[in-house]
Amino acid sequence: MNILIQNGTIITMHNRKVIRQGAIAIEGKTIIDVGKNRKLKRKYGKGYEKMDAKGHVVIPGFINTHQHAAMSLLRGYADDLPLQEWLEKWIWPIERHMTPHDIYIGALLTAIESIMSGTTTVNTMYHYTPEENEAKAFTEAGLRGVIGHVCFSWRKKEDERALEDLAKNWHNKADGLTRVSVDPHAPYTVDPEYMKELKEIREELNQKYGSGKAPIICHMHVAETSDEKEKIRKAFNLKLETGVMEYLDSLGVLDKHVIAAHCVSLTNRDITIMKQSEVKASHNPISNLKLGSGISPVPKMLRKRVTVSLGTDSPCSNNTADMFEIMKTTAILHKGVTKKPTLIPAKQVLEMATIEGAKALSWKNEIGSIEIGKKADLAVVDFKKPHHCPQYNETNQLVYATKSADVDTVIIDGKIVMENGQLTTINVEKVMEMAEKIKVRLLQRLACNVK
Ligand SMILES: [Zn+2]
Repeated sequence: MNILIQNGTIITMHNRKVIRQGAIAIEGKTIIDVGKNRKLKRKYGKGYEKMDAKGHVVIPGFINTHQHAAMSLLRGYADDLPLQEWLEKWIWPIERHMTPHDIYIGALLTAIESIMSGTTTVNTMYHYTPEENEAKAFTEAGLRGVIGHVCFSWRKKEDERALEDLAKNWHNKADGLTRVSVDPHAPYTVDPEYMKELKEIREELNQKYGSGKAPIICHMHVAETSDEKEKIRKAFNLKLETGVMEYLDSLGVLDKHVIAAHCVSLTNRDITIMKQSEVKASHNPISNLKLGSGISPVPKMLRKRVTVSLGTDSPCSNNTADMFEIMKTTAILHKGVTKKPTLIPAKQVLEMATIEGAKALSWKNEIGSIEIGKKADLAVVDFKKPHHCPQYNETNQLVYATKSADVDTVIIDGKIVMENGQLTTINVEKVMEMAEKIKVRLLQRLACNVK
């Protein structure tokens, strides 16, 4: 389908260009033109479905670089707890009762929530099973994604099989909508030898299924809390003299296709290593605040020119998939902590949520900005609302005033997946009903197990 979006304010995220009274021409999956309305209207008449964006702002869809999509099923299940207790006593025991079908439904729910709040790409780390999985859910919803399989030292053989199946069936599949990643859970759950093996596995899978333009990346939690070194010592009897990133570097597992989630407890040397090895960061401020994990040294990373993207983390440590919330929190948190109101201005935050996210997923060649030749992944935001009035600066407005409910229409890969607030791909009510049923079943299975 060919689409001409007209009369909108286009925030391109390409050289920070904003086009008022702008238009975007889309042919198939691709943006073929961006410019002033009067010019494009003449060029693209017949054969284009017209979309009027008067009073709306059009942005590249958000790129959420740290998620565990299926965990939407546990939203609100365990709140107000510290990370380790939350994981060991609450999350891991109930997750053992999740079936592949449950995971698929949970991921559908997150895909819906993501699209409805303007996100067009999600980087998710979870348990992959061939039968049903997050990749299937994302493609059905029409959401772009990097789907990972999370690896632990205690299940190496199982992980190896899952990774092979995941890469074979989902890397650069669904017409390029899905890519995959190899995901060591964290330096305290993956022993040093396995960490190295997983890098080798990633290289092998890349040779078989990846390419320079569409690489299989690595996604892992790094330095989420200040006691991570202690956790590594306990788990592997390994006393680290360095920061956690420096330890990973000593294993030779870091490279430009590694995205590290959280990066809260970093040394200055760790940040230098990230810059040198081109490791990307996913900043998850709401999850870090909620779990009391601390505050990531984002201004320091940015000063060193490390790529910092944004993520929500799972819907049970956040508890939403809302990137508007993440943008505003990022913009105000570091100002408050450092007492420097000029730090991380709105335009930089919007970059972190879009183009920097694309860089972080090694996907910048196709997504992250509204540019000729890139995939048409866009969110159309309604600015005809009291909280957007009066309008001085659209970018500042998006970061400080816009709500996810203002997202009106979403296009992914040239396809309209939400129009006027209604999803076109998935029956939302039905997925919500199924998620409620799964909740009841999970609690029953957990109760039986406990007895
Ligand atoms: Zn996480």
